This record gives sequence, structure tokens and C-alpha cells, in this order.
Amino acid sequence: MKRVINACGRVTILGVSTLSEEVAQAAVDGGQSYVVIEDLINRAGEIISGYTGGEDSCVTSCASAAICLTVAGLISKGKKSIMDRLPDSSGIPNEIILQKGHSIEFGAPLVTMLKLGGGVPVEAGTVNEVMPEDIEEAINEKTVALLYVKSHHCVQKGMVDIETMRDIAHRHNLPFMIDAAAEEDFRKYIAMGADLVMYSGAKALEATTSGFVTGKKEYIEYAKKQYHGIGRPMKIGKEGIMGLLKALDLYEHKDREKEVEKNIAKVKYLCEEINKIPGLKAIQIQDEAGRAIYRARVMVDTAVGNKKIEEINKELRAGDPLIHCRAEFLNLGKLDFDPRPLCKGDKELIVSRLKEIMKG
Ligand SMILES: *Cc1c(COP(=O)(O)O)cnc(C)c1O
Repeated sequence: MKRVINACGRVTILGVSTLSEEVAQAAVDGGQSYVVIEDLINRAGEIISGYTGGEDSCVTSCASAAICLTVAGLISKGKKSIMDRLPDSSGIPNEIILQKGHSIEFGAPLVTMLKLGGGVPVEAGTVNEVMPEDIEEAINEKTVALLYVKSHHCVQKGMVDIETMRDIAHRHNLPFMIDAAAEEDFRKYIAMGADLVMYSGAKALEATTSGFVTGKKEYIEYAKKQYHGIGRPMKIGKEGIMGLLKALDLYEHKDREKEVEKNIAKVKYLCEEINKIPGLKAIQIQDEAGRAIYRARVMVDTAVGNKKIEEINKELRAGDPLIHCRAEFLNLGKLDFDPRPLCKGDKELIVSRLKEIMKG
């Protein structure tokens, strides 16, 4: 198996992120002791809440599991007879409303996670335009919750904003959830009045494979109960929990501005060096969802180039080491290089490989 240079980002298909020594050690220590798991889950919930401002939190195996367990919890409200028949939720309120432009694919369709928890996704509006009335009028006696998705994968224009959707939910006494899996601010959405917010542990936190949902105590209790139902195949082990808690602690104390500066320096290097290669041009861009993430965007300079961007991407992915960058805008002639997951020496290897490819 070849090594991969990950210029893609914190993506599941390439292993998301790498563990620091401290997180790895916490996972090892956690894995080498016994503990009453329910106590660990409860204590982890208290500790996570200290970092989010939520009343309580439920630790999960990933953000997808957090979405699924939350939905199952809201549908079953802790009732065993319902938990025992999930994901079959026929005959009881089970609809989750989300905006059509938020019905994304992040490696798997988001709505699959809702369905797995017994939810019936109701997509309000159209892909490029959702009006508050679209959401308001989708609400009925079968509605269980409203879900907002904060992600660069979402359609960024024409959608209803968080505050408006929150107010609609609360006017109808419905819980308002936010999928913030890849977000970097763990307090923001609770502070904005979301009832439940789901995060991934391995993305911004660079933790062990894990996740959590944080928010209102009552709903979190419902989510935790799902470990005795559909949550069983999604269980997180003690090593994963201990890694997550250590990563939260490290993240709180990390100098994130310095980290951003370091990443910008890498982007600058990539742009400068790539702009020297005949046939290519590179610019610095910011993340579509507005996070403090900067990337190098590479395009073929049609004045000089005769190689197609698709070929360049193919060749990057075929060398040794394999080089994976973001190809989501390939159809628009753009390849994006994310500096965050690059290891020592990777940016130089990217430049030299691009030089080779352009020489033909
Ligand atoms: C990555 C992602 C997920 C899934 O997170 P996992 O921890 O991999 O399950 C869900 N929603 C969004 C918006 C994501 O970016």
C-alpha cells in the first residue's frame, strides 16, 4: 500500500486526521483499564459540556452516529417499546425537516443517518431557494425536530439562516438541531440557542474516531438510551472516549491563530511555487463555509497549458506517494490543496510532482 499525501482535508476516505502523542497515549491508557461504561459515558458528557456550554452531552462513535442517536432519541423519547422497534417508527411522529440545499452527501447521504434513527426526512423548499414559509408550512403533527446543516457541502445561497430557522422551531415548540460536524467552534451554536448540536471528534479536534451531541439535558438523556437499542452497532469504546476528552482539552489550549498563520504560510508557498510551473496558476482561497481555512486553488493556464485538469488530478493520484487534493470543483477546472493535513516535506513533494506532470 502506498503512502498518501493528504491535501484533501479531514476526510474519512483518507483517515480524517492524525493523533498527537498525547491523544494517542490517552487512548492507550483508556484501553488498558476497566470502567463501568455508563459512568464513563455520563462523566464524558459532563466534561464535553464544559467545552460546549450544553446542559449535557452524549459521546458517540462519530457525528453520523450522533445524528442518528439524536433522531432516535427524539422519536422514542426514551420509551422502551418504541426503542425496541426502531428504525420502524410507523404511526408515531417521526418527521425531521431540513432545507433542500442542506440535504448533502459527506461520504454518505445525510438523510441516511436520519432514516437509520427512524426519522423521515422532509426536505423544505428547492435546492437553490428555501423561504421561511417552506419550513413553516412543512411543520405538522408528525414533525419531531428541525435540522440545520452547517457545512461547506451545503448550498450557500438562498437558504434560510440559523436564527430564522431556530425561531420557527421554537415558535412551534420543536427542538432545533444543528449538524456542525466539521465546525471548529464548539460553543457557538449552543450560544445561538440550538437545542442539540452534533460534532465529529476526528475533524477539527483531531481526536480518536468519535463524535458527540451536546445540548438540552432531556434530549441528551434520550440519545444516551439508544445505546440499548439501535445505538449498539455504533458504540464507542473507552479508548475512543479517552482520546476525545484529551483532544478537547488540548484544543481549548491550542493557539489556533498561530495554526492558521502556519497554514497560510504553506498555502503561500504552494501558490508561489506552482505559479512558477508553466501551464499552471494558483491562488489562495478561503473555505466556502467561512471557516478560517485557507487553501491553494490550482487551475490550468489555458494560454500555456495543454494538459487537462482531470489528467493532472489522475496523475497526482497515481504516483508514489499518492497525492489526494480536493476535486469537488474539478468540473469547473479547479483543484484545491488543503494545507492542514500535510506532513513534513509534503508540500515540496506536491510541487515537484506537479512539475513532473506538467513536463509530460
Ligand atoms: C463529516 C461530516 C459528517 C459526518 O461526520 P462523521 O464523524 O464522519 O460521522 C456529518 N455532517 C457533516 C456536515 C460533515 O461534514
